[in-house]
This record gives sequence, C-alpha cells and structure tokens, in this order.
Amino acid sequence: MDLALAAVALAPGLALGSFMNVVAARVPLRRSLVSPGSACMTCGHEIAWRDNIPVVSWLMLRGRCRNCQVAIPWRYPAVELVSALLVAGCVWKFGLHPETLVAAFFCLALVAVSATDVEHGIIPNRIVLPAAAVVLAAQTAIHVSPQWAIGAFAASGFLFAAALAAPRGMGMGDVKLALLLGAMLGKYVSVAMFLGILAAMVPALFLIARLGMGARKVKLPFGPFLALGGVIALFAGPALLHAYWSLV
Ligand SMILES: [Zn+2]
Repeated sequence: MDLALAAVALAPGLALGSFMNVVAARVPLRRSLVSPGSACMTCGHEIAWRDNIPVVSWLMLRGRCRNCQVAIPWRYPAVELVSALLVAGCVWKFGLHPETLVAAFFCLALVAVSATDVEHGIIPNRIVLPAAAVVLAAQTAIHVSPQWAIGAFAASGFLFAAALAAPRGMGMGDVKLALLLGAMLGKYVSVAMFLGILAAMVPALFLIARLGMGARKVKLPFGPFLALGGVIALFAGPALLHAYWSLV
C-alpha cells in the first residue's frame, strides 16, 4: 500500500523538484519565483511547456536549449529526480501522517540549499532560516518535545564552534543549515553531523592527495554533505544509532 502511494508521489515530486531548480537559481539573485516564467539562463528565450517537463524534456533536448543550443547543466534533471525520489521515500517511510509533509518539505529544502551551494557557493538565509522555523514549529506541534529545539541549537552551536576554530572550512551558512537539520532530526542530528563530516572528508582527502598543499585553496561546499547526512539520518538515523551503540 505504502509503496503504491510512494509511486504516486513521484509525479508531484518531479514538479516540486522543478520548482526547487527555480528556487536555487533565483533566490540568491533576489529574483521573483513566479514571474517571469521559465527562460533559458543564457539566451533568455522563454521555455515552452513541452520543453519544461521535468527530466523528460532535458533528455529529449539532449541537454541543450532549443533556441541557442547552449548546454543545460545536468544538475537540473538531477535536482528533479532526487527531489522526486526523496518525496516518494518520505511517503513510503512515514505513510499518511502529518510528519510526511514535514519530512518532504525538509528534504526539498535540503535539495534547494545543496543546489544553491553548488551553483553559487552560498546557503541563502532566505531559504534556510524560514525552512528551519517551519520545521521546528511543525515537529514541536506533531511530537510535543523540547528535543527539536535542543537538536537545532546544539547542532548549530557545534558547527559555530567549529567555524570559529577553522574559519576557512566552515561558513555561517553551514551553521544555519545545522539549525534546520536539528529541528527535523532532534537527537538523531548527531548521526547527520557525523555522516556529513565523514562524507566531506572523502573529496577533501582526494584533493589533498592530488594537489598537496594546493588543496587548501580549493573551496569545497560543505552544505551538500551536511544535507546528505541529514537525509540518511532521516531515513535510517534510529537504526544507525542503535547499530552504533550495540557495537560499543
Ligand atoms: Zn538558450
């Protein structure tokens, strides 16, 4: 039953992913999310509905603008696909429960923040702060407990201390992203932070191996790794924490 529901959620998930592309492209530039309609970022040519179908149009156009033939980054269909899978995953995991809406909203916010961090190198306050406030209010209303607020402030406090200690590695955007993670995950935010830092070490070690001291100059966005940790903790946090405690 839940699997069928999850499959049904794929279509709206794709549409929401398409909207996350708009959010990631426009919010950092302080442009409106509704007008003008979708247009090619290079030639400004307005995109017809048939060229604006999530994933499908990108494949049909072989990743190029119909008007100017400039390449459309694969990030666009990737954001749509990942959003759809996450929304479907939330329906599958939480079923018909108010938490499904909060979890899906949380995942979409993480997708938007990651795409923005990759494209513009920033985590905009105007996405992450309202998202954190909405998630904190919703989680506290659904499961009355102080753990959501505690998780939010503990996680961001931890990254804030890390940012003070090593200002080159961590930005204030990451500190605010931790607020969002803690508000959604409560005590399982520790799993998200641990996995995020672990995941970020893979490309960091690769860069150091290739560039030596030159790797210090490369700015690696940390947001997408934190987001990845957050998604894994959302779906498997309790199981992972349990496995950890039975190991030690
Ligand atoms: Zn174009």
